Amino acid sequence: MDSQWRQLAQWIGQSNRIVFFGGAGVSTESGIPDFRGAKGFFHQDREIPIERVLSIDFFETHPQAYWEWFAQENAREGVAPNAAHKFLAELEKRGSLSAVVTQNIDGLHQSAGSERIFELHGNWSRLLCTGCGRRFSIADFDEARTGAAPRCPSCACVVRPDIVFYGEMLGSGVLEGAVRAIADADMLIVAGTSLVVYPAAGLVDYYDGDRLVLMNATPTPYDSRANLVIRDPVGKVFAELARAV
Ligand code: NAD
Repeated sequence: MDSQWRQLAQWIGQSNRIVFFGGAGVSTESGIPDFRGAKGFFHQDREIPIERVLSIDFFETHPQAYWEWFAQENAREGVAPNAAHKFLAELEKRGSLSAVVTQNIDGLHQSAGSERIFELHGNWSRLLCTGCGRRFSIADFDEARTGAAPRCPSCACVVRPDIVFYGEMLGSGVLEGAVRAIADADMLIVAGTSLVVYPAAGLVDYYDGDRLVLMNATPTPYDSRANLVIRDPVGKVFAELARAV
């Protein structure tokens, strides 16, 4: 095993309050692309940057574009938890991982069996009515998977995903929970995130220990603070560790 991977395995074995803080790169090996280099999304014959499709002012005027993008993302074949999601769920079961903090909205940590999860940016499978606030699950609206914007059966207003659109505030409860978990951690593994989206990226500052691991394919602004930097794919590394730890 690579010496960096061995160091990671050793620290995991010695820690019992590990927090994992991840981003879009955790799900790329599940077939969901991250935003780096992502092309715009075509809506009504014009190309719109994905960040625009996922911003609240655009959703308010063009909700249809979000639902078309969602349908496109969900049409991908074979999306399922990868070795990283599964290994983290296993560490939680063994009692050595205290929380997963994720910027992802895809729900793959839940699918893998993780229970203590702080979803900073929400989850695209939970929905709510923009009019009356009634809550739904994506399973309640078959039409959402075909790109049609669902309407509330109670008040007929547009239904939105329970995600934090660009331009919206993060939920204070989830943010405080994530801060507490990270401040209490004896090891922080940060993976698959470019650490440029705030306030999420600033969460790393709450870790005060000497087992800060940064596992990202490309450099991040926090690399110089890390005790260990690994550039290999997070799923590949965790698949190997699952066999060894
Ligand atoms: P990002 O797209 O800005 O960065 C992802 C980082 O992961 C990149 O630096 C890339 O080099 C790295 N990476 C990609 N695959 C990797 C792998 N297999 N192993 C290690 N590193 C890998 O993502 P972000 O920092 O999470 O921020 C973008 C925002 O968009 C976030 O809010 C994020 O949740 C959201 N987003 C979510 C999803 C999802 O839910 N799956 C997908 C795309 C974007």
